Amino acid sequence: MYALKERYHALLQALAQAAQHSEAPQIPTLIAVSKTFPTADIQLVYDAGCRDFGENRVQELLDKIPALPSDIRWHFIGQLQRNKVKYLIGNVALIHTLDRLSLAQEIEKQATKRNVIQPCLVEINLGDEPQKGGISPADAPQLLCEIQSTMPHIHTAGLMCIPPQAWESDRAFALLSSMAREWHTQGLLAGTTLSMGMSDDFKAAIAHGATMVRIGSALFGAR
Ligand SMILES: *Cc1c(COP(=O)(O)O)cnc(C)c1O
Repeated sequence: MYALKERYHALLQALAQAAQHSEAPQIPTLIAVSKTFPTADIQLVYDAGCRDFGENRVQELLDKIPALPSDIRWHFIGQLQRNKVKYLIGNVALIHTLDRLSLAQEIEKQATKRNVIQPCLVEINLGDEPQKGGISPADAPQLLCEIQSTMPHIHTAGLMCIPPQAWESDRAFALLSSMAREWHTQGLLAGTTLSMGMSDDFKAAIAHGATMVRIGSALFGAR
C-alpha cells in the first residue's frame, strides 16, 4: 500500500525531469487513471497529493465520486455515448473525448440546462483508425467551428489523442501539438491543453509539449 505513495512521487519526479527536455519547460498535470482500481487505492494517491483522476466508464465514475473527497477533479477519458452525457455535466472537470457533432450538441444541451460551461478536449483520431474514438483530423476544423459559433456552453480547452498503433509515438505527439497551435491561432480552439502520453510513452509526449499526461498502470499497477 505504501508503494502507491512512493510510485506517485517517483512519477512526479519523472515528469519534472522529462519537462526539462521539452520545448516548453512546463510540468504537465498528472492525471491518475484509476479505472478498475478500488476507491481505497484512489484515496491513497489522493493522500499523497494527487487531485486529478481519470475514469473511462460513466457508471464506475458515478459509483466512485460519492466515496471520495469532493475536491477531486475528475476527468472523463472513455468513449462517450450521448445518453450518458447528462450524468457527467457538473460532475467532471474535463471531458477528454468530444469527437462528434451529435455529442457536442448533447453536451451543449445539458450544460445549458445546468447553466454551466463544460470544458472539453476534442479527441483526434490521427491515423483515422476505424475501431477507435476521435474525429478525423480532416473533419476537426469544421466541428470546432460549429462549436465556436453555436455552442457557448462548451469550452474547447484543447486536444487529446491516443497514438495510432502503427506510428512512432513521437510523430503522433508532434502532429497533435502542431494542430493545437494552428487551430488555436486560427481562433477555432479556445485553449491549448494537450492531453497526450500514457504509462509507456509519457516522456515523448512531454517532449512535444503535453500539458496533461494520463497514467494508469505505471501508478496503480497492472489492470
Ligand atoms: C487506460 C487509459 C490510459 C492509461 O493507460 P496506462 O497505459 O495504464 O497508463 C490513458 N488514456 C486512456 C484514454 C485510457 O483509456
